[in-house]
Amino acid sequence: MRLLLLGGTSEARELAADLVDAGIDVTSSLAGRVARPRLPVGKVRIGGFGGVPGLRAALVDFDVVVDATHPFALGMTANAAAACTDLPLLRLERPGWAPDPSWHYVDTHSRAASTAASLGARPFVTVGRQELARFVPALGDLPVLARVVDVPDLSLPPTWELVTSRGPYTLPSEISLLREHRTDVLVTKDSGGTYTWPKLEAAAALGIAVVVVRRPPGPEGVRTVSDVAEAVAWVKELA
Ligand code: NAP
Repeated sequence: MRLLLLGGTSEARELAADLVDAGIDVTSSLAGRVARPRLPVGKVRIGGFGGVPGLRAALVDFDVVVDATHPFALGMTANAAAACTDLPLLRLERPGWAPDPSWHYVDTHSRAASTAASLGARPFVTVGRQELARFVPALGDLPVLARVVDVPDLSLPPTWELVTSRGPYTLPSEISLLREHRTDVLVTKDSGGTYTWPKLEAAAALGIAVVVVRRPPGPEGVRTVSDVAEAVAWVKELA
């Protein structure tokens, strides 16, 4: 069985390792956004397919597809659902974080920016480099701390400080960072998982307001599982 694994997440790397161990011919696909990606085991291809037609063309080499891209990787997930009309497709999506009643949920990044501006004066923005531009109109004059994996193309307002790093993070280091910056509002998307969870624990410990961008809805009609073991079981059953 030749399996195409749409990746870019820690779960996708875990799944690749488990499936390669089980003797499945796995090719992981990465978007190529990150300068030095953590590579999964097995075969790897890097770069976009060229929309639905490109993906359809690439699928002639595969028997099954698992979409384990990030919960906010909307484009890839929609393309996979549209292209896999003749191939079995599984969506692996880690659960969102259990909601805390004190968090401020919003539907869009623009709304996250205006909500953060209404809640604090020193925001810590952790939404990924691709979304930062949406925060400039509302937060452009504030001393924002923005954390990203790779430096964005965007030229940032002079009051902003950029830190580049990649999880997993620890509670003590997140508390130090928030204290150092004197953060009074944290902005995150509902990525779920454990890698970036300590910032939410740190915010709770320090009494800092939290704005969470709600997840977009998952792909309609696509079988979806929430953990790697369930995905392995699905693949083994097909194999
Ligand atoms: P996106 O908006 O869903 O995708 C935009 C385009 O990038 C897709 O149409 C596709 O181009 C290409 N692409 C995305 N994922 C790909 C993959 N795994 N393999 C090959 N091409 C891919 O995606 P995104 O939000 O930019 O995320 C890019 C990657 O980073 C994803 O793989 C995702 O798992 C990972 N990631 C995203 C986030 C996030 O917050 N969005 C966070 C952590 C990791 P074509 O149309 O040309 O095929």
